[in-house]
Amino acid sequence: MSTALSQSGQAIMTEPLKEYRSIQGDQQAERERKSGHVRMDKEDVQEYTKGASAGTVGCREGGHRFPTIREVGIVFEDEDGVPEGQKFAGCMIRLLRCTGCRLVGRREFWTEVDGDWECVFSKPDYTSFKKRGPNAESYLAPPGLGRMTRKQVRAAEAANLLHGQTLATIRRQIRAAAKAAA
Ligand SMILES: [Zn+2]
Repeated sequence: MSTALSQSGQAIMTEPLKEYRSIQGDQQAERERKSGHVRMDKEDVQEYTKGASAGTVGCREGGHRFPTIREVGIVFEDEDGVPEGQKFAGCMIRLLRCTGCRLVGRREFWTEVDGDWECVFSKPDYTSFKKRGPNAESYLAPPGLGRMTRKQVRAAEAANLLHGQTLATIRRQIRAAAKAAA
């Protein structure tokens, strides 16, 4: 059986990778506790993306990449799974591993009626695979810092890559390249 995975999984996956600014972290944790949704600071997202491996940052920026049915077929790992808070009972469980970060899985709950199969529920699985990426990063942000969005990760990656450049410097580069190609 596979029940109550997400709660325990969250707890395990949010171990601190390293110490971040503690006072601000405490304030964030307090706000997160109150609201349940706090966005991570820009500086913390940049710190995270600099330290994390390409595969993990790729998933944080573009989403996980789970193999398709054509690629890996359908293998059920468990039976009689009842998704938490769902009305469906007696589902077959299929677990996929993300091919990008390889840290996160997707647990699918499949049911069958008169020969028709349907995935009625799925959820991320943070406990079935490795807890740390190649750079010892965890997929989830360190606790107390809030949550990072894809948009924030994209912005942090761009800031890391385009450090020191402005619209004006890029414009000059594009015009110089166009002139050189002409
Ligand atoms: Zn992934």
